[in-house]
Amino acid sequence: MAENFVSIPDLRILLYGTTISVGVLFWIYESLNPYFSRQQHRALHAKLNLSIAALNLLILLPSGILMAFLLGWSKTAWTGIGILALPPVVEAILIILLIDLWMYIWHRLNHETALLWRFHSIHHSDSALDVTTCWRFHYMEILISELLRLPLFMLIGAGIEHLLLYSLLMTPVIEFQHSNISIPPILDRLARLIIPTPMMHRLHHSMLRTEHDSNYGSMLSIWDRLFGSLLVRDNLDSLRLGLNDESDSEKQQLFALLLRPFRP
Ligand SMILES: [Zn+2]
Ligand SMILES: [Zn+2]
Repeated sequence: MAENFVSIPDLRILLYGTTISVGVLFWIYESLNPYFSRQQHRALHAKLNLSIAALNLLILLPSGILMAFLLGWSKTAWTGIGILALPPVVEAILIILLIDLWMYIWHRLNHETALLWRFHSIHHSDSALDVTTCWRFHYMEILISELLRLPLFMLIGAGIEHLLLYSLLMTPVIEFQHSNISIPPILDRLARLIIPTPMMHRLHHSMLRTEHDSNYGSMLSIWDRLFGSLLVRDNLDSLRLGLNDESDSEKQQLFALLLRPFRP
């Protein structure tokens, strides 16, 4: 489908270019106009989160190549929703919605399953939430996510072009929702009708479990509305970010974070 108007290599370049340029723009803007002004040592904080992200690329890059091959191969035997013979654009929209629904379910499972929370809590242990937090995931969370989503994508008949298009749309949204930028409240309220916003995701990074077990959406906020997990608060002055007892500097070191899920 998508290769009719844009090629797979073009989509990849567009995705990498968008991810880096939007991320850098948000990082600069958060420095100039932050929502939480108490954040210090931003370069060191970015170095830690980007080191964790670089490790994940060792999984994501080969996984992307393998997934492109396996999704192409599986389509020769099973077309998934292709059986409905929908126009390609409608089929692409439906597949992108299904992928985003899976991302919501997967994120929620990470909060509601003790084993998965061990890995996902590394994302939540960042007490200085900013755009670089959106790349801070334990490598086991990435690995399990890749292993689970492959058969699901095969089942719905997604191609690598759908996955790249989804990533292209979703990545700027997750960069936006993690960023520590200050925007007019009315803008956040309007944006949250469609996408999860910074004010929503800050609550998702609250130290309180009653608050961080909410707002699981990645690209669209509709799933949180549909499944009753939407939480909004327009004043976050009293909000404490991160996890209890996890902000000590020795716990916020690369190897400590990588080993933390395996501790009793
Ligand atoms: Zn979470
Ligand atoms: Zn987050």
